[in-house]
Amino acid sequence: MPQRRCVGCGLIASKSELVRIAVAREAAEPRGRAVCDRDGTMGGRGAYICRGDEPGKPAAECLAAAMRRGGIARALRSGATLDPKLVESVLA
Ligand SMILES: [Zn+2]
Repeated sequence: MPQRRCVGCGLIASKSELVRIAVAREAAEPRGRAVCDRDGTMGGRGAYICRGDEPGKPAAECLAAAMRRGGIARALRSGATLDPKLVESVLA
């Protein structure tokens, strides 16, 4: 089982324990939008965050830490904006 590091807390875990974040290209956002890649089918680089209690969603504390530390942008090597709906649904 391939292992990845959470960009929030730094824990190394198998991919099934983590949620993948990838960049979706949208006409409205030329730099892209970082969203949950639930099926793991989106191309390009991925950032991984520990899975939270809700299926397919990252853990709130890890998402918050990743946002503070800029880990998502670094992992994706992208200036993509983190999907505000995702942030809202996890941190609200
Ligand atoms: Zn984590």
